Amino acid sequence: MRTAVRGARGQSATASATEPAIVFDRVGVTYGRGRGAGAALVDFNLRVARGETVALLGPSGSGKSTALKALAGFVRPSAGAVRLDGRDVTDLPPAKRGIGVVVQSYALFPHMRVAENVAFGLRAHRVPRAQIAGRVSDALAMVGMSAYGTRLPGELSGGQQQRVAIARALAIRPKVLLLDEPLAALDAQLRRSMITELQQLRAALPDTAMLYVTHDQSEALALADRIAVMRDARLVDVDTTENLWKRPPSSFTAEFLGGANLLPCTVTRVIGTSALVTVGGVPVTAYAPQPVVARTDWESQAGVLLCLRPHAVTLTSPGERGALPARIVASVWRGASTRVTITLPGLPQTPIDVDVAGHDERPVGTEVGIRFPERGAVLVPGPGAVS
Ligand code: ADP
Ligand code: MG
Repeated sequence: MRTAVRGARGQSATASATEPAIVFDRVGVTYGRGRGAGAALVDFNLRVARGETVALLGPSGSGKSTALKALAGFVRPSAGAVRLDGRDVTDLPPAKRGIGVVVQSYALFPHMRVAENVAFGLRAHRVPRAQIAGRVSDALAMVGMSAYGTRLPGELSGGQQQRVAIARALAIRPKVLLLDEPLAALDAQLRRSMITELQQLRAALPDTAMLYVTHDQSEALALADRIAVMRDARLVDVDTTENLWKRPPSSFTAEFLGGANLLPCTVTRVIGTSALVTVGGVPVTAYAPQPVVARTDWESQAGVLLCLRPHAVTLTSPGERGALPARIVASVWRGASTRVTITLPGLPQTPIDVDVAGHDERPVGTEVGIRFPERGAVLVPGPGAVS
């Protein structure tokens, strides 16, 4: 039942229009019982709006799939609730939730033809028989698989099988689409082209809320409006992709999203968003994100780190004006760029990675200069900071 509520500006709206498409409300999941029990999800809160894509990003075992399964109804939360469009679905069986789910392993029935695989979900959702053929062909067309309806899954490539799995999820016209590492089983080249296809699919489904589970930061950056970073069964940070990348709220997110040099530093002075810090005994200026909460009062905080992206650092000749003296300790050519690792005399134990365009042939041991980017070095709370 939809209840009319009054919005903040006085217009009436339905509860389902004002509630986010997906709500995780303090969800906890524990596997097993007694001494063997393990918490896979702890106090997990997340909201996804209609039409929004949120990536759940985190290392293997951090609880991403568990969160997705709690929403889809494949595991029962031990605490909290999950809501879809404002409706508590915590106790609803999976098929009654109207969610499309795509998993890494495709999970197609090997003995059923492609079209039958797609139709299967429609029958499970009790779609009237007369509509099934049309829905199947619409869904296959969306993923460019119209010509393959009579093939068996074993006669398709991995990428094609995953397209069929996506078509099967889309056929029920879900308001919520969950994807659990859908590209993880594909090779690197195919993965890149599938990211482009998923972007197109995203654009074709402007009202669908998507939760995209991945351990691959490039997929998260390419597809998500916001990223929720997970670690050890908990949500660490959640924000827009751009904010998380430019102003990582934690050292974990800084490293996991994009890779970062995290250098110990001492904050001398902060004026507005400009910080004067000392790194390895050398003064440099850095970007200090505005305090969102008290913990980002940079000057009084211990263990503040300077986050420096490898691509943002410039290597110069030694002694160049404004450059800090450094020495090359390792160098790996990667084709389009070279990852050069340097150390500063005042920070010999902290190697700093620098990405140099092209093939940098300076040998290990070479004295160089490094220049930090103007405002490209950003302060990050230390690992001990409490949020
Ligand atoms: P992710 O998807 O981030 O790799 P998972 O949600 O699959 O992580 O797993 C989170 C934790 O829960 C891991 O420690 C994993 O070993 C454990 N786990 C997952 N599924 C089960 C299960 N069915 N029974 C017991 N433990 C599980
Ligand atoms: Mg998983």
